[in-house]
Amino acid sequence: MDIFMKDFLWGLTGRVVLPFDPLYTLKRQGFNRAIQKYPLVIVYCRNKKDVSNAVVWARKHSIPIRIRSGGHNYEGYSNGDYLLVIDISEMKGIEIVEDTKQLYIETGVTNKLVYEVAASKGYPFPGGTCPTVGVSGFALGGGWGLSCRYLGLGCDSLEEVELVNYEGDIITTNKRCNTDLFWALRGAGGGNFGVAVSMRFRLPKRIEKVTLIEIDYLHVDAAEQEEFLRVWQDWLKCADYRVTLIARIYNSKHDGLAMLVRGIFYGGTEEAKDIMAKFLVLKHAVYAFSYSTFLEAVTIIGSVYPPYEKFASVSRFVTRDFLQPEIGQVVGLIRKRPSGSVFTGLSLYALGGKVAAVRKDETAFFYRKAQYITWLETVWEEREYAAENEEWVRRRYPVLAQYTTGSYVNFPYRGLIDYLEAYYGSHMESLIKVKAKYDPFNVFTYPQGIIPTMGHDYPVPKEQSEPDIFLPASGDRDAMYRGFRYVTETSVK
Ligand SMILES: Cc1cc2nc3c(=O)[nH]c(=O)nc-3n(C[C@H](O)[C@H](O)[C@H](O)COP(=O)(O)OP(=O)(O)OC[C@H]3O[C@@H](n4cnc5c(N)ncnc54)[C@H](O)[C@@H]3O)c2cc1C
Repeated sequence: MDIFMKDFLWGLTGRVVLPFDPLYTLKRQGFNRAIQKYPLVIVYCRNKKDVSNAVVWARKHSIPIRIRSGGHNYEGYSNGDYLLVIDISEMKGIEIVEDTKQLYIETGVTNKLVYEVAASKGYPFPGGTCPTVGVSGFALGGGWGLSCRYLGLGCDSLEEVELVNYEGDIITTNKRCNTDLFWALRGAGGGNFGVAVSMRFRLPKRIEKVTLIEIDYLHVDAAEQEEFLRVWQDWLKCADYRVTLIARIYNSKHDGLAMLVRGIFYGGTEEAKDIMAKFLVLKHAVYAFSYSTFLEAVTIIGSVYPPYEKFASVSRFVTRDFLQPEIGQVVGLIRKRPSGSVFTGLSLYALGGKVAAVRKDETAFFYRKAQYITWLETVWEEREYAAENEEWVRRRYPVLAQYTTGSYVNFPYRGLIDYLEAYYGSHMESLIKVKAKYDPFNVFTYPQGIIPTMGHDYPVPKEQSEPDIFLPASGDRDAMYRGFRYVTETSVK
């Protein structure tokens, strides 16, 4: 490294990766390989001081910042071109204090690590489905998981967050201290107010075992997919709060038209089977109900995710039933895969239960009363199909949007016009005030970030422009796609 470069980097502590580093190509990419960004510097922080130094360094050099933990943001908003990525994924401290039933984490830990550590003491945890997602990115956006109807969203168990602010200072937020910021961090905290460096969660009651629910429907037709959506919306209205499901209505290169259901029930297998009866009588259902430890259940659920994918998607909240003709239209969205697509799907993430039991104003997560989240996606393998697949989502979004509301910030979509309203509903105004108070110069920003001057008369600072440059990435494998685990024979164990 030459003297000029050393001088330029002075003040930055932690492990620095630069564009000419052999690891750069690997390290600059996130989970969604359809998004290619070229940061100027990536700094892997080892502790809070490194994070603080990184913020101060970036401001001194007027270099924009992105914050990255697990790197799973769908639109690549933890990354960007010509900027500093503050990467906290190596800050992996984690501890359980048994007396107070509290979990302390540094914010680089993943779902997998939290599940393993919590389970080692007999606790479940309201984390997400993908093992490599960062718990901080997950919980700051709300945090939907297969325990949420029983234990609430990830952010509902948060008791305290420590944050490095725009001046590089560490501030503590909880129900007594910086309460407005603590409110904002639970649902709108990703990338907007500062770098969360540590979190404290309240742990739920210990649990011996749960029932893992797996149902597959292969070789179905369009009418059966529509019937499935009808059953789903009917079932969810009075479903037991101890069960949370994800369902996918999909069209894959491998299976053609199909559906699947995965879920966790906090109870025994026979009761789970009764609760799920409406799904089991549908044609082609092949199912397995297994009484497993919580760790076994989340590990099996998480085992289908590949290390990366190429996809485009949009999410919406569903607040009312789809009517008869609407069901055909919505399910029909996935019937034609665009060129190069290996998978199109409409996923359904059950809400209700403990999610709806929390008052809407208690946290920044706005859509407490929605019935479920729906997520439309297409996955492709070869990069030349990107434009066509993105266009596929763009054309279908208005169809879905007319019957649904808002969008889940953890499943962002760059095509949203009024993105703040879509993500935060009427919490938007309060969030802008919190932003103006804690990050007045908009140091922490990204293309769909909250801007402190939004809605005011004085000029809105220009967003960082992120030109869509493309450099071929050496060593980047194009083909990578999730491997499904199918239920092979019906069983209740
Ligand atoms: C395969 C897959 C499965 C998923 N499953 C689920 C699921 O079951 N439930 C669910 O709710 N979501 C799910 N998600 C979405 C995921 O929770 C969000 O994308 C989440 O924000 C990712 O966090 P991350 O740290 O991995 O990503 P990153 O890209 O590192 O961060 C995501 C956003 O949060 C910000 N951020 C991250 N850490 C911090 C921090 N410490 N301080 C301040 N800002 C921070 C980033 O700047 C960025 O804006 C899934 C995503 C993928 C790709």
